[in-house]
Amino acid sequence: MLLDRHGRSARYLRVSVTDRCNFQCSYCRQPDRERPLSHERILRYEEILRVVGIAVAAGIGKVRVTGGEPFMRKDCDAFLVMLRKRFPELTLAVTSNGSLLAPHIPLLRALGVSSVNLSLDAFDRELFARITGRDEAPKVLAALEGLLRAGLRVKINAVALRGVTDSQLDDFIHAAMTMPVDVRFIELMPLGGQTGEELFWPIGEVRAAVESRVRLIPVPEAPAGAIPGPARMFALKKGQGRIGFIAAASDHACGRCNRLRLTSDGALRTCLFSGREYRLAGLLRHKPGLPDERIARVLNRACLDRPLGETLLKSGAAPPRGKRPMNALGG
Ligand code: SAM
Ligand code: SF4
Repeated sequence: MLLDRHGRSARYLRVSVTDRCNFQCSYCRQPDRERPLSHERILRYEEILRVVGIAVAAGIGKVRVTGGEPFMRKDCDAFLVMLRKRFPELTLAVTSNGSLLAPHIPLLRALGVSSVNLSLDAFDRELFARITGRDEAPKVLAALEGLLRAGLRVKINAVALRGVTDSQLDDFIHAAMTMPVDVRFIELMPLGGQTGEELFWPIGEVRAAVESRVRLIPVPEAPAGAIPGPARMFALKKGQGRIGFIAAASDHACGRCNRLRLTSDGALRTCLFSGREYRLAGLLRHKPGLPDERIARVLNRACLDRPLGETLLKSGAAPPRGKRPMNALGG
């Protein structure tokens, strides 16, 4: 078990396979400050699989493949196949902006992917284009339909932006009423691009705005045996789907955090709000013959020192915005 000093155990690993993305979401990226990683620095798939193997042996039960946009990376499908083949027991999930997803849906289904998180901040085409920098709403909505048709579990992630998301609430509620999806509003985190105070919409206010439109029925956080997530979920009367709220910046639920992150250049991050990184790439590449146990020891040590992000944020010790923006962190 990957235990830490706060009594938590890490069970969930988010693997970013690329920092590149075809979108420019305003809250995520900082185009003027970004330098994409060179191909040589990106972990090879075989290297990622080795880290996953070590993590699984140490107690990780769920891996989410993310990015950047994961399907921007060549042969992401082949990587997913290898992941499934080598770790048949693993809960496997994917996060995507949906724009390139459609041709991959049959494979995701065949591999038994447990859920696809689809980032969708607006149903309105113009607003979608304004937020993401790409006029791709029709493609993303088609991917959503395709996922549901394939019987895959879908979670729609919407970053709550004051003065932006407000206008979309009716559409989000309609989606949760009419489709078997989890619509989750995520509080804006001060880590990516445009994250100014004027845009920050506290999740309590988002929830109040939703509740002024529809009655929310609390549901248990996660089914028995499942690895719990950060969202507070609610059902809707006669609704097919659910609505959830993720207090990512104001009330972290850090005490329940169970996740680790592997960046595409092989850095292990144990907390979104700590800049501390463990450079696994160096161990993988520059120490030939290094046994897995040595890497496992680094992993265990890193987990033991896993901080409480909320303490770092409150004390001002969190890394400066943009040090490693969200597209490079994997969300
Ligand atoms: N490109 C994929 C996507 O958008 O789904 C995967 C990577 S993206 C970095 C993962 C998640 O991070 C997305 O759901 C996105 O909305 C979220 N995200 C990015 N920047 C954020 C921020 N500043 N605050 C909160 N969530 C953010
Ligand atoms: Fe790309 Fe996802 Fe960031 Fe949007 S949120 S820019 S889709 S990585």
